[in-house]
Amino acid sequence: VEKDKAPKSAPPAKPARREGAFSWSVSRHETFRTCLRRYYLHYYASRGGWREDAPAAARELWVLRSLKNRWMWVGDLVHRAVKHSLTNLARGVKVLEADRVVEITLNLMRNEFRASVRGNYRQGRGQGLFEHEYALPVGDDGWKEMASLCERCLRNFYSSELYDSLRRREPSDLLEIETLSSFDLEGNTCWVVLDAAWRDKERVVIADWKTGRGEPGGYELQMTGYALYARERWQVPPESLDLLEFNLQSSRIHRYPIDLQSARRTASFILGSIADMKSLLADPEANAPLGQDRFPRIDEIPVCLRCSFRRVCRPELAGTVAAGDI
Ligand code: SF4
Repeated sequence: VEKDKAPKSAPPAKPARREGAFSWSVSRHETFRTCLRRYYLHYYASRGGWREDAPAAARELWVLRSLKNRWMWVGDLVHRAVKHSLTNLARGVKVLEADRVVEITLNLMRNEFRASVRGNYRQGRGQGLFEHEYALPVGDDGWKEMASLCERCLRNFYSSELYDSLRRREPSDLLEIETLSSFDLEGNTCWVVLDAAWRDKERVVIADWKTGRGEPGGYELQMTGYALYARERWQVPPESLDLLEFNLQSSRIHRYPIDLQSARRTASFILGSIADMKSLLADPEANAPLGQDRFPRIDEIPVCLRCSFRRVCRPELAGTVAAGDI
């Protein structure tokens, strides 16, 4: 595809990478930045914990790393609903109206909530909630607030001009919808999940849905990283991209400017982050880490209270925590 020309169709996705190989992602970077011990437990000590014959310690860490708190869970439910609708649009299939999507999603939410209360996630079935694992006293009002938030985000999305414009597009304009994808940066696999990407005349738009209360504009690394992916996947230069963060709680859209220079800055930043991570590998080829003691714990109790690993990492914090802290 020539410069300034949007792709006509997406090439096939790349094959999966070698299991256990080093790879980079924004969430990995955030974990590394927040707490090295959490990074170690999440990316190394829990490896293989999904297997039936996994050692008990790895299994326990795997269960803990898979937990979501109630805010993340709502975000995931909203993403799943939107993904379903956009996938149908891309296939030319009739989409459900907002009322029906809300009804289905809230039913799903109730079912997943009950399964989490029962602890099904400990047998590898269903989503586990952090609040249940750590017996946080959220209360009925707290859970109802989550259902309201979920409904609000869905209604904001389905009544938005952006969704309306997507419904009026040709199905083939939709290039990618929430697919785990990757790009290569100097031999390193970098993972991305674009919530949606579509062609708009000579440009490509990449959008990310947010459901949190955070101020818009706080996802520079994630959004500008998409430019590196778009260049490799569709040969689209940064100047031909529009990067949108759509906050579904507030209905605000934030646009991230991008050009060749800022894309290069992002690439250098990611390479620096990769070098930091690799400096803690005993065997970079095998992606084998140094010992756990090289990944120290942090001394920030508020952060530890929100950490899924605190049961094994800081058992002294096992007491009840106010739900409002999480
Ligand atoms: S409990 Fe605290 S020190 Fe331990 S992994 Fe989590 S954030 Fe790090």
